[in-house]
Amino acid sequence: YSPYPNKVTMLLDILDNLPRLRMSSAQFKLILWLLEQCNIPGVPSFDAFRKFQSELRKRCGSEPQPFTSMLGNHFHVNNIRDSVARDFSNPEIAQHLRFYPEDVGQGPLSEVWQAQRWKEFDPSELTPMYSRHGVQFYIGEVALLRSQQPVIPQAWVMRQGQLYADCKTVTVLPEGWRINVDGVESHLADEFSINYPTLSLRYSDKIPWTDILSVPQMPSKLRELAGGDDLYVVMCPLWCDDVSGNQSKQYNKHINIYMVNSNLPGRLLQQEYFVRFVSTSPHASALEQFAAVTEQVKETHQNPVRCFNAVTHRPCRVILRIPSLPADNPQQSEECSHMGGNANLKCRKCKNGGPLEETGTDSGYHALHFAGEPRTAEYTRSILLRQIHLAMYGVEKPIKDLQTATGVKDKIAQHWIDTLLEKSRHLSSTTNLTHEQIYEQISVWFYEQPGQWMNPLLSVPGLDPCRDTPVEILHTILLGVAKYVWWFLHNGWKENEQNIFALRLQSTDIDGLNVPPIRAAYMMQYRNNLIGKHFKTLMQTMVFHVHGLVNHAQFNLIKSLGSLGALLWIPEINNLDTYFIDLRVAIANVLDSMDDLEPSKIIQKMKLQVLIHLEEDIRRFGPAVRYSTEIFECFNAVFRLCSILSNHLAPSRDIATKFASMDRIKHILSGGYWYEDGSWVCASKNVLQLLHEEPVLQNHLGWAPACERSAGICGIHSSNHLLMIVVWETTRASKSVWATPEDLLSTSPESKWRFGVSVTSNVGDLCKVGSWVLVSASGVQQVVAGRICEIVVQTSSIRVQDRGLVTVEQFYMSSEPHPEFDMPSLRRADQHSQYLTVGSKDILCLCSVQHNCRAGGCMAQASHNERQERQETTRVVHAIQHSDDDQFILNLHALHNAGHIRKLLPRNLVAVKPLYADRKLHHCMAASKLRTDNAQKREKAQAKR
Ligand SMILES: [Zn+2]
Ligand SMILES: [Zn+2]
Repeated sequence: YSPYPNKVTMLLDILDNLPRLRMSSAQFKLILWLLEQCNIPGVPSFDAFRKFQSELRKRCGSEPQPFTSMLGNHFHVNNIRDSVARDFSNPEIAQHLRFYPEDVGQGPLSEVWQAQRWKEFDPSELTPMYSRHGVQFYIGEVALLRSQQPVIPQAWVMRQGQLYADCKTVTVLPEGWRINVDGVESHLADEFSINYPTLSLRYSDKIPWTDILSVPQMPSKLRELAGGDDLYVVMCPLWCDDVSGNQSKQYNKHINIYMVNSNLPGRLLQQEYFVRFVSTSPHASALEQFAAVTEQVKETHQNPVRCFNAVTHRPCRVILRIPSLPADNPQQSEECSHMGGNANLKCRKCKNGGPLEETGTDSGYHALHFAGEPRTAEYTRSILLRQIHLAMYGVEKPIKDLQTATGVKDKIAQHWIDTLLEKSRHLSSTTNLTHEQIYEQISVWFYEQPGQWMNPLLSVPGLDPCRDTPVEILHTILLGVAKYVWWFLHNGWKENEQNIFALRLQSTDIDGLNVPPIRAAYMMQYRNNLIGKHFKTLMQTMVFHVHGLVNHAQFNLIKSLGSLGALLWIPEINNLDTYFIDLRVAIANVLDSMDDLEPSKIIQKMKLQVLIHLEEDIRRFGPAVRYSTEIFECFNAVFRLCSILSNHLAPSRDIATKFASMDRIKHILSGGYWYEDGSWVCASKNVLQLLHEEPVLQNHLGWAPACERSAGICGIHSSNHLLMIVVWETTRASKSVWATPEDLLSTSPESKWRFGVSVTSNVGDLCKVGSWVLVSASGVQQVVAGRICEIVVQTSSIRVQDRGLVTVEQFYMSSEPHPEFDMPSLRRADQHSQYLTVGSKDILCLCSVQHNCRAGGCMAQASHNERQERQETTRVVHAIQHSDDDQFILNLHALHNAGHIRKLLPRNLVAVKPLYADRKLHHCMAASKLRTDNAQKREKAQAKR
């Protein structure tokens, strides 16, 4: 049980480090006592156990480091160097790491390394080498291809799943080698044969260059930095927010920083297992903590992290970079040294906005619908420096004016500004110095002060907080726009309208939506306290339930939000061109329908103003759902548990140690290596088996082993096998139209078949009998939409199999979108072609389809008795009774499979249509309405006085 002395110690250590099941010392002592009472051998005493844990932490974990900020606050930071080193030395994680940017052209695009952001770095700032069995080829160094052609690689890049180098060519002339200035050739990494050190040896350090001045430095500085090891670059987005350390309502403010390793695929980063705690403090502000973390990051540029690569089984070194700062909007504003939502200029990313006299004019209002002149870190630094210099004169007003006019304000700079103002005032009241003399004296003092004068994030190489704070959809869309939309609805409703909506919402068919069961009455009752998941459900379903309850402008807004939401939650963008055309229209529609409803919102709400930057963010960072902060918010629950059980004397240190300890356990159990007595070792076999064989532990550690269902697999009833067997003649499949020939199946009238309950679609979702699906049928050009009514498999097969027959009730899809919903409408097919049978592999994907209650005039009816505590009560539940089973709408607001459905259907059915052709005119009208409204408000206010 290495590194443990025995099994019981190992199990105790695991028990003590489960993220979601934190135990107090008292509980833990009780367990030790229990084990002793049962005469279990080898049970350690509590103190001995803690001592063993602390030794183990020194061997294969890490110790939090103390840090004092320039404002004098103490806190502890977990070393992110160790954290990244553990990723490399963990075989379960290291195998997924990606190091090179990838060219995907027009798509599909799903990962951050396929987007623009990585490509903005100089190739030398990304992973600069390609290593084949420890032979490294660096960019900027001459190397020989297998064809003996010398080339100088300039950048490594993935194309069509293979690694390429874009190279400058070298011409071999009788007088020597000449580097060709223009023209870049692309070569497969596999073509590289001899690297620079070997080549240089071959020529005894004298490669015959014709023009030595044109030759870059060889060997590359980076090769020297790596000291012979492989050298990689890892991108670490840093997340920050304030989190309550209590579970109760009493707020116990902590500012936390977490990180992820974004060289891992997005689907993994949606798991808690991959979130790394960095630091927490009830005292130190975000920027003070960032100062500590950015120092750790910058240090790796001179002194890369040394670690062991569990894939290559070779030591390697790693440089860290910060590509982005995910967080909610107020936090991101702070990280940009921007004043936030209360400023006149509300956008942290551009200089849009201003006083109402400007934004209320036609042109000023129109401008808020487009991205303004971008802010940059350099601009922000210069404004802050001006503020600091103004403070040396001792007058506050010009500083405040500058802050209002630019929206630039910074917590750390403000500390200095306040100090300088005080100093300056003190000097002017106690001495006879002139303003200029005071300024001189104070500026001398100021430049002698150690430490940072302003936000440390403004000076991290390769990072620009103004650009690299991508718009985050949980807070901006769900808790932003969707919340406004919801408020506009329920705010105007009377009780019976609320009831009608709740009833309709409750009757939503949630199959194909991938949402938890809807509790409509609860949502209506607590309508002002809904959370992200509620808005996620509302955004996808509201449009079907509001007929008769809203005006035209509200309906437009609901529709606009629904189509924007579906685009933003797509995890893989199939075609960038069409995606951005749709996205631009969808964003414009949300803003333009808001103009109709409440133009002042456009001026007041930062969350609406940042929407226009989504396009740039998605181009640079990939699909928006990939950098949603939902997973960090989930991780806060783990933090809270640690905080509650901390000793509260040194919360920052205590919590950081606990997290380090949990990371250590995950590392040991999943086969991670650590350095001990001169070699890299991992836990013994007995320990490693545990994680793979004990589902109990997998659950607790947040470990999700990959389970992919392959397309076409049918699930059948596991019990009563015999009862479910029927002969071919009695199946519906025998009587319907066959869309695809299934030659291999014997369909003699007497052949025996078994009914299935589910079938896995081509994209991996589970479709049940009654589910709506898109199917491909040979001979029909367009995909067919239908409702599964029967799944049969032949009895000769075992429990599951992939050669089933699926019969769907076919529905005709309209050739034009429904005029009200802007979605495809589905109408029951005529008698003859109503049933269509396809092979189970032809089920393309699950989709959400809702009854067209608007046209059907569906009403509420008593349906069944309510169940409480698993028993039927006498309380009657009402539900919507659909008036027919013939007319439906394919729900394009559904997030699940949104990308697949858009890819499968004809473009004219799914393209987002602009609400207003002449947007300028529309904005001018809204601005004029705004001015009239404001004038009326002023008059009313005056009349009151
Ligand atoms: Zn902006
Ligand atoms: Zn209906």
